[in-house]
Amino acid sequence: MREDASYFIDSARLSGAALERKHRLENDPASRTDVMAYAPDMERIDSDVREKVLSAAAEYEPAAYSAADVERALAHDTCSIEDFAALLSSAAAPFLERMAQRAQRETGRRFGNTVYVFTPLYIANYCDNYCVYCGFNRYNDIARRRLTEAEIAREMEVIAASGIEEILLLTGESPAMSDIAYIGEACRLAGRYFRNVGLEIYPVNTADYQYLHECGADYVTVFQETYDAVRYEALHLAGRKRVFPYRFEAQERAILGGMRGVGFSALLGLADFRRDALATALHVYFLQRKYPHVEYSLSCPRLRPIVNNAGINPRNVHERELCQVLSAYRIFLPYVGITVSSRESASFRDGIVKIAATKVSAGVSTGIGDHEEKYEGKEARAAGDEQFEIADARSLAEMYAGLSRGGLQPVLNDYVYV
Ligand code: SF4
Repeated sequence: MREDASYFIDSARLSGAALERKHRLENDPASRTDVMAYAPDMERIDSDVREKVLSAAAEYEPAAYSAADVERALAHDTCSIEDFAALLSSAAAPFLERMAQRAQRETGRRFGNTVYVFTPLYIANYCDNYCVYCGFNRYNDIARRRLTEAEIAREMEVIAASGIEEILLLTGESPAMSDIAYIGEACRLAGRYFRNVGLEIYPVNTADYQYLHECGADYVTVFQETYDAVRYEALHLAGRKRVFPYRFEAQERAILGGMRGVGFSALLGLADFRRDALATALHVYFLQRKYPHVEYSLSCPRLRPIVNNAGINPRNVHERELCQVLSAYRIFLPYVGITVSSRESASFRDGIVKIAATKVSAGVSTGIGDHEEKYEGKEARAAGDEQFEIADARSLAEMYAGLSRGGLQPVLNDYVYV
């Protein structure tokens, strides 16, 4: 699709074979690998969840719903898949106020007025993949860093001193530069400073998830980005991430590896966002039926500008559409946690935590090794570039005060290990 060319970065410092390969991947679909073919070392699991989710998403026609379908969905006490499909449709747009009120009631019933606060920590930004919309992609000319153990410990010390008790560790997706042993050590270090440790890393096999769980990781988030395999193929041009089914099955492998929780999301704006939102929620729904003991969460990222391409934007997913998606998520999956990241503005996050969201990040940097500078005003070291621009840079103290002023109860930890 030609509009995808707006994602491509003119990598001025790239030359020779690398530049040639980049252009070939962008312009010649025949030069790319089969998006459905597992690499030999990728584990296959026996699961019917992918088939169920993708066939439901393929059949979904958001334009086929009417106001009467939306009225009917809102009249039901429990929300069926068909009701959820109606609530996500464009026919539901005029019902946003009623949907938000219903979502607010559901959130209050299950979560009270609590909002969980955490922070992400990027420990490396090397990536082998070519996702055309992402600042970390292998062909983007950015400052790359991988923190040493001592640097990770210092970052964690600074973050923990701010009061944060849950950390989400992120790397780019480079098994060579951020191998499992490195990530495992980071989890062990995190256990000294935080009560909860989440991971957002490249998908791995069950045995590796089990190892990382033993090292202290307690939940795993993987963004499928889009559940539309054709769009997925056009946007993920190279690297292991290109293997669509292996990524799809990551959460199930993480569950089999013993993780307490798993997180899901599409990157809204890459494809038809209504269909992607339906598929994301159904991914949770079917796994929840198969593994009811696990804690599930949803995120809702939209596209953001990146280093070397400030023009990337969330396309047709504006705050109203995002509010509709999140209200529909809450009505359909009342017990599932919903995270709203710092990609969204402070005003949107302050509003959505009163309606549907149950978890927000604070004190966020998507750069590598710059927390000392950002939290304590110390002189900058050689930091790695950021993955994308954030919109809400509030510290934990500011977030805590803002939530409290809004009548909400910020929660830093509600897990006790016995
Ligand atoms: S989205 Fe993830 S896998 Fe893709 S380029 Fe960015 S960091 Fe790498």
